[in-house]
Amino acid sequence: MNLRIFNSLTKTIEEFKPLNPANVTFYGCGPTVYDHVHIGNLRSFVLYDLLKRVLEFNNFQVQFIENLTDVDDKIIKRSAEMGISPSELSEKFSKVFFDDISKLNILPANNYPKATEHVSEMIKFIEVLLGKGLAYQEADGSVYFDVSKFANYGKLSGVDKSQIKSGTRILSDEYSKDDVQDFALWKMVKGSEVGWDSPWGKGRPGWHIECSVMSQQFLGDTIDIHAGGVDLLFPHHENEIAQSEGVSGKSFVRYWVHGEHLLVDGAKMSKSLGNFYTLVDIENKGIDPLALRYLFLTAHYRDKLNFTWESLTAAQNALNNLRETIRNWDQPVVGCAEHEQRFTEALDNDLNTAQALAILWELVKSDYPTSAKAGSLLKMDQVLGLGLAEFVAKKIDVPENVMELVSQREEARKNSDYHKSDQLRKQIKDLGFEVLDTLDGSKVNKIN
Ligand SMILES: [Zn+2]
Repeated sequence: MNLRIFNSLTKTIEEFKPLNPANVTFYGCGPTVYDHVHIGNLRSFVLYDLLKRVLEFNNFQVQFIENLTDVDDKIIKRSAEMGISPSELSEKFSKVFFDDISKLNILPANNYPKATEHVSEMIKFIEVLLGKGLAYQEADGSVYFDVSKFANYGKLSGVDKSQIKSGTRILSDEYSKDDVQDFALWKMVKGSEVGWDSPWGKGRPGWHIECSVMSQQFLGDTIDIHAGGVDLLFPHHENEIAQSEGVSGKSFVRYWVHGEHLLVDGAKMSKSLGNFYTLVDIENKGIDPLALRYLFLTAHYRDKLNFTWESLTAAQNALNNLRETIRNWDQPVVGCAEHEQRFTEALDNDLNTAQALAILWELVKSDYPTSAKAGSLLKMDQVLGLGLAEFVAKKIDVPENVMELVSQREEARKNSDYHKSDQLRKQIKDLGFEVLDTLDGSKVNKIN
């Protein structure tokens, strides 16, 4: 079976056939680097990584580009509040973003282009749209895309074209589903505000234009895959299609891939509800970021995933159990073909990660020799990215004095003496070991 993936444009699961079989072109909308990204954003970035790994598992060469939005309304507002320049702010949070994704074992993209480094290309792009009559300049200098002039507007999102409010304009980088109206390509700025010189005066690009321009620049007019969170489908991706196809006259994206929302405690994440989490919150609770990756993999990317601290703890326990089990295995050899086959089929079937994980556990619990299981597990982890290589066949010798402290700690936990149990954990740590609580009792790891 070949890789099949749900295409949001046709709303069907299609066999994946790249334009050029030797090189898959893949663009993912990246973060706005003005703050820590939340775990809902991280779910999207893990999806990009998973898809890239599945493509590579299918022997495709992948060219993957993810942009960094380093100028927009939010960045300008936040940097002004903090009394620093937008570039200082975006620099700081780009680093945080790279840190986050590396903790989640996300493999690096081929490039992370920054919007501010491609402004001159954006200006040229807007000039083409103006030349084709698809855009117009307002009296204040701002340039807008005229949605009524683009015949295919709405083809991805299915927005009702009768809703198009021709001649009404939206300047903000973010707007709602009801705002089917002309959007800003170039926004005039006044005085000392951040801006670049352009044929229309000093201004800065709108948010949507950067993806059209950087995608074309790095990957060409027509790309194989464009991915993003489902919240980007309209207006962002609809507007990207209008801009890109408006300029090139060619089809922009062959497969649109959208990841569903992450809910927290059954509700949409928001700062006002106090259910807004970043990787820092997770690490502060002593949870391994890879447990979050594991949790993401338990759900299909097109299903909403409800994050709770209980579900994350369960994912951590499952990961701990897996790590501890495979430590005692023998060195990997050629694996179990049957499990590997079914595992590949699950992922090739629109990235069914939940089923792939179930097959992994079936393998772990099977009666095959551990050396064969180790071989298959390492192959599977090339796609899942759970960092298991570090644990396979890495049995550790725990000195007796450490084991003694561990059993004392277990005793203390049984008696609900958490103060003593914490003290013992610290003593164990001082001796160079960490203790993990799993469903099968306490396990000990050497601290590197
Ligand atoms: Zn984008």
